[in-house]
Amino acid sequence: MSKTINAWAATSPHILEPITIERREPDENDVAIDIKFAGICHSDLHTAKGEWGELTYPLVPGHEIAGVVAAVGKSVRDFKVGDHVGVGCMVNSYCLKGPTFTYNSKDPKEGKITQGGYSQYIVVDQAYVLRIPDTIPMNVAAPLLCAGITVYSPLKHWGIGPGKKVGVIGLGGLGHMAVKIAKAMGAEVTVFSQTLSKKDLGIKMGADNYYATSDRSVFEPLKRSFDLIINTVSAKIPLTLYLTLLRRDSTLVEVGMPEEPLSYSQRVGVFGSNIGGIRETQDMLDFCGEKQIFPEVETIPASYINEAYERVLKSQVKFRFVIDISSMESRAKI
Ligand code: NAP
Ligand code: ZN
Repeated sequence: MSKTINAWAATSPHILEPITIERREPDENDVAIDIKFAGICHSDLHTAKGEWGELTYPLVPGHEIAGVVAAVGKSVRDFKVGDHVGVGCMVNSYCLKGPTFTYNSKDPKEGKITQGGYSQYIVVDQAYVLRIPDTIPMNVAAPLLCAGITVYSPLKHWGIGPGKKVGVIGLGGLGHMAVKIAKAMGAEVTVFSQTLSKKDLGIKMGADNYYATSDRSVFEPLKRSFDLIINTVSAKIPLTLYLTLLRRDSTLVEVGMPEEPLSYSQRVGVFGSNIGGIRETQDMLDFCGEKQIFPEVETIPASYINEAYERVLKSQVKFRFVIDISSMESRAKI
């Protein structure tokens, strides 16, 4: 039997509201999860506001999910009731058809549009469930499922370690995780933020250098000094300026996904990078658990989601909002 649960959904580009949704009964390969915390990723805002294309409202965003296993199907071997688990951006994948995303994706299994983690409960195929190490508290585990893996993957892929210089553009949800993870990998880390307002926090979380991009004089002395630059900015910025900061044969990785595509006027190594695979996500969780690398979070009740969205848009989040899903309990069913 399906289960009716409380959730918060975008009902238009401008507002999120409480609704109820149905979750399927777990089949033999499924893990049913009581969601405890869900992070607010800027991708949730791009999607909910229709910036990445049309969508059907109501849409429940949320792909940074941390919860506790409530039930498992009979073929599930690696998870048991009570385990701490996470779900990220994907809930399924079919080779030729590509991944089924956690929300706003047509689910070939159910024929419905997927609904995400701003909700009390979710049912996911075991292959897309991650184990959260005991050493990571649940509320800070949630943002690792997207922000963490999205920056861990390129840092790992481009061989970041001691002796490497990494630049991070934008100190938001992804950016601050890039700083912490690059530092833990042994790199020298430089932040490029719009202002110096978060400088003390950035230094405290591991940045060796911190610049305000509003001051254009900072770029000239940094020419040809970086091995890798990660752009995490959610808006279009003049990236050509940053390309001049790269050493020969080094790379700029674009993980920000602004509404308007970025343009480049130089021929250099610019790569896009999209989240990361399931195995790599588990590696990242284990790495963060072992090194005790946690996101800085502001934990909020669901009733604060609309205000949180406004603050994310104004770059006023330090550094990830995480929704406490227990705040959805008391709401009367509608
Ligand atoms: P976020 O927390 O809002 O951080 C974005 C940061 O960008 C802000 O904190 C701000 O940093 C900077 N910024 C915002 N507007 C700016 C502007 N107009 N000019 C210059 N800098 C600006 O967002 P997030 O959750 O980290 O996500 C960042 C981007 O990555 C989004 O586009 C999101 O969709 C995308 N994303 C991609 C993937 C992927 O797989 N590739 C995964 C997750 C997210 P400062 O205040 O320091 O300037
Ligand atoms: Zn995300």
